Amino acid sequence: MSTLYTRRRAEVENRRRQRPWTSLFVKIAMLAAALIILSLRTRPAPEEPPKPRPGTVPPWVVEDLLPVNPYSRPGTPLDGVNGVVVHYTGNPGTTAAQNRNYFAGLADTHETYASSQFIVDLDGTVLQCVPLDEVAYCSSQRNADTLSIEVCHPDETGAFTEESREALVALVQWLCDAYGLGRDQVIRHYDVTGKDCPLYYVDHPDEWEQFLDDLGFVP
Ligand SMILES: [Zn+2]
Repeated sequence: MSTLYTRRRAEVENRRRQRPWTSLFVKIAMLAAALIILSLRTRPAPEEPPKPRPGTVPPWVVEDLLPVNPYSRPGTPLDGVNGVVVHYTGNPGTTAAQNRNYFAGLADTHETYASSQFIVDLDGTVLQCVPLDEVAYCSSQRNADTLSIEVCHPDETGAFTEESREALVALVQWLCDAYGLGRDQVIRHYDVTGKDCPLYYVDHPDEWEQFLDDLGFVP
């Protein structure tokens, strides 16, 4: 009897001694579970590719905004975006950076009023010089409701390089998607003022039609 009592007593003692360890183990397990659940919850969602929306540009566009100044970036809000106007720089062999710096320099030289939202380089790099909700000085009477794209060209013919043309197609597609523009809203400077700009597409209207076809509008 007394042996049984002693044994029971020993078991109870034993259990009591073990309990703190058991409960510590349970606490650690719960903490670990909580941390795992928390980490699953806070894990960032897989990154989605950016979609064209008003005010956005493709991720490969390089932002290099002009300083606000009366000669190339007046800071005037656009009335809206009802078209995209394509231009050529008219300066054979010059780069996007050179043309961008020329626009920026007008703040000091006061030579003329000129700029564009975008400049496409000879290698297809695209610079953004003016925000999408501000007026640029490029398309005369359509400055207030269009976005302008200047394209660099290697020679006097004004023909774009393959890289420039590809970048131009992709940029115009993005802007048309973002602003819900149709094929007839993609125009040449020539269509606004009759100026020979972009020269190659004024000289070769069939090539301009091909360019518009390449934008892939569904009829
Ligand atoms: Zn032009």
